[in-house]
Amino acid sequence: MDANTLKDQLSTEDVIHFVVEALGSNGNLWDSYGNPIFQTVCHNPPGTGSYKLYYYTDTKTFVCYTECGGGGLDIFALTEKAKGLDFKEAFNFVCRFFGIDTRKKGFEIEQNIQEPIDGDLLKTFEFYDSFNEKQKGKKELPEIPEGFLNFFGNPVTPVEWKREGISPEVLYQFGIRTDGCDKIIIPHRTKDGILRGIRGRTFNPIELANGCKYMPVYVEKTGYGHPLGENLYGLYENQKAIKEVQKIIVYESEKSVLMNNTIYGDLSYAVATCGSNITTSQQQLILESGAKELILAYDRENPIKDGSEENFLKIKAYEEKLLKQVQPLANVMNISIVFDYEGVLEPKMSPIDKGQETLEYLLKRKIKIDCIEQQLKGKRK
Ligand SMILES: [Zn+2]
Repeated sequence: MDANTLKDQLSTEDVIHFVVEALGSNGNLWDSYGNPIFQTVCHNPPGTGSYKLYYYTDTKTFVCYTECGGGGLDIFALTEKAKGLDFKEAFNFVCRFFGIDTRKKGFEIEQNIQEPIDGDLLKTFEFYDSFNEKQKGKKELPEIPEGFLNFFGNPVTPVEWKREGISPEVLYQFGIRTDGCDKIIIPHRTKDGILRGIRGRTFNPIELANGCKYMPVYVEKTGYGHPLGENLYGLYENQKAIKEVQKIIVYESEKSVLMNNTIYGDLSYAVATCGSNITTSQQQLILESGAKELILAYDRENPIKDGSEENFLKIKAYEEKLLKQVQPLANVMNISIVFDYEGVLEPKMSPIDKGQETLEYLLKRKIKIDCIEQQLKGKRK
């Protein structure tokens, strides 16, 4: 597929998805003609620019209304500018995002050509395409037919995650597989086990360098992303343990849930929000899970305590941020938060990334939220 054909085939929805997920605009606004407006990711780091980058749906071009010189950019030119890539790299980047195999077209000839898709799967694509069309603007996505996962071939468990200590049994239990190339495929299910979304964890150096570690999976331009905030990853698999133990531990990423299940097996009461935010829907799911105790175990962002005033303010801001996440549930559950003030973890690490011993060390030191509240109030005066 050449660049112009691809550009023509991308819907406005696809473009929004791309600019948000891959280039890092925090969502989009709309102008009065129905054109989406994004943050100026062309010349600002992700999530920081003002909303002055317009996408004109009729000409499929972006215009940045600042002095950055971004006028009349197509999706590839915007990607070049935003990511500092040349055209070929930007084209490949866009193709990879939308699950289009460029290898067949001679950009990167590799041995590993995918098998032709059989008739049933083609029907699946059509089904999803027409659904995407009908559902525009609606939140709830349909069930993805189970057979769709077969598109990625037999569930070959990814060696990268086995190396990090996730057991093959757990990978199999959660249906984790690879795309046969450099992406780990992560099926997302609702609490009733319905396949609702498919996410990918890439090992492609260009995608990684551009901060696109986790992305919704696209196959031949159809996106299988879903609103992550509507779901709790792992709730389906671990709801029995949560009910039994009456506890729930909330991590940021899918991988942490898989590691938790590797360690604790049938007694794993872990879920992940797949982002550093607990949405109202997720709070509802936590409430209904039967847990009486919630442990928030997000990735380490806090600085290590060193007694300085500047450091104290940073820690305070971090505590307030986490507190805000769980406070709506405070009246109905016991809540504690895992903090790593000693720097046992590297920055951005999940409390479980260094294994069972470190996790349990940190869990012993988790802090009840009323203590945090008191601390914050006390020191403010
Ligand atoms: Zn710009």
